[in-house]
Amino acid sequence: VAILKIIEHPNEILSTECEEVFVFNNKLRKLIKNMYETMIEHDGVGLAAPQVGVNLRIAIVDINDENGLIELINPVIIEETGKITEVEGCLSFPGIYGDVTRPHEIKVKAQNAKGKQFTLSAVGFLARAISHEIDHLNGILFTSKVEKFYELETLEG
Ligand SMILES: [Zn+2]
Repeated sequence: VAILKIIEHPNEILSTECEEVFVFNNKLRKLIKNMYETMIEHDGVGLAAPQVGVNLRIAIVDINDENGLIELINPVIIEETGKITEVEGCLSFPGIYGDVTRPHEIKVKAQNAKGKQFTLSAVGFLARAISHEIDHLNGILFTSKVEKFYELETLEG
């Protein structure tokens, strides 16, 4: 297991649409393990593959709730309900936070690291975290959705 280097803005890979994953092998599972260690090391709640320089539709989320680590391979939001505006940050934008409006509730279809399809319903902060990571896979950065910026060293995101 290794801690990977987090790509910070500006970098072209962060605004590139990622490729679908077709091969579910040990290499993929090792990448996910390393992404997990890297996310924990940086106190993040989510991380997308392009943030560690890999142009593939892979993201992980762990908001410290009963879901534990959620592996999202080729994730797609299939339903969204409501809207809520909250402050959020991103490991690729250290020290930058902003108010972003996201769906209050989402339903996501994805595959796990073994290629098995699943659907997941998420509400509130979990829905926000998943939506933020899926945006990364489409090359969309949270800063493009920020309604009001904060640059507070004291906020942790
Ligand atoms: Zn991010």
